[in-house]
Amino acid sequence: MIDKYNREINYLRVSITDRCNLRCMYCMPKEGLSVIGHDDILRYEEILRVVKAAVKAGVVKVRVTGGEPLVRKEIVDFLADLRAIDGLKDIGLTTNGILLETFAEKLYSSGGIQRINVSLDSLDSQKYNMITRGGDLKAVLRGIDKAHRVGFSPIKINVVAIKGFNENEILDFAELTLEKPYQIRFIELMPIGEAGIDNNGRFMSSKYVMEKIERFYNLDPVEGNGRKMNGPARIYRIKGAVGQIGFISSMSHSFCDSCNRLRLTADGHLRACLLSEEEVDVKGPLRAGCSDLELENLVKMIIAKKPMRHDIRCSDMHIKKCVREMSSMGG
Ligand code: SAM
Ligand code: SF4
Repeated sequence: MIDKYNREINYLRVSITDRCNLRCMYCMPKEGLSVIGHDDILRYEEILRVVKAAVKAGVVKVRVTGGEPLVRKEIVDFLADLRAIDGLKDIGLTTNGILLETFAEKLYSSGGIQRINVSLDSLDSQKYNMITRGGDLKAVLRGIDKAHRVGFSPIKINVVAIKGFNENEILDFAELTLEKPYQIRFIELMPIGEAGIDNNGRFMSSKYVMEKIERFYNLDPVEGNGRKMNGPARIYRIKGAVGQIGFISSMSHSFCDSCNRLRLTADGHLRACLLSEEEVDVKGPLRAGCSDLELENLVKMIIAKKPMRHDIRCSDMHIKKCVREMSSMGG
């Protein structure tokens, strides 16, 4: 479906839970968030109905996220049901990787997942433990390795770039691509929610990160480096490297003009944009017995509400925060 700003909206990110087994400093406060009650979280069958309606409205690609999607029970069966939806061409999953070693094989063989993104902000166990407030780096590395062995390709690794935290690891991450077929994606820190990190002064633009790498290596744009191919990421490769390096510049170069996404929150709201508060409730209508057509119309309604662009800029890092937490919106 084409929206009023001539963008084709065909991608839905689904947060299946706001719960998480980590507490990343830029995402959640250390005491965690007041989690949504079980009854207020969309049931799998409800999510599947919304996805079907979205597919009718033109969605062809879904990413399952959270919170941490792998902590929700019966996720593999849910993914297999998702896979069976006619017209849905691509299903991805974003995980913190803590449980990936356990799940990789099942996700690949029974879940029908084709693409996996793992979040990893440090290659140093102590720093990783600190930023995630308790995460075990080795578990994540084992998970990534297992995912690679069972056949996931490409494996994308999301690194939130944080000044004074992983600035001195930019090169280490970039050099991982020399030997591993991973796509390392540096993501600009966003001022979301009430997490424990003081965003002010922590921001590193993609340009800054890229220049750090370019002091040592030439970065060649990967063919088809358009946003249509790679979503919001601009992708490069160090000469001779097996992997790739991507930059997601949500703050310094908003990709609103080519944004093709909608979001379904864990508590059943369709959202037009990560950084604008426009939402449509689907849980209420679902539980009141709405028809598939009504559901499809709600999807169309949120597409119609999609703003031309979000109004948060890097200069606002310290003054403007989104009301919702990242974990309920799915990043
Ligand atoms: N728990 C899963 C994970 O961490 O991959 C999926 C959900 S998480 C909310 C999705 C993505 O959002 C992660 O890659 C995470 O790094 C990113 N994220 C969370 N808070 C962020 C922030 N304030 N700025 C930029 N990215 C953020
Ligand atoms: Fe959990 Fe992912 Fe948020 Fe970290 S970024 S606290 S892993 S939801």
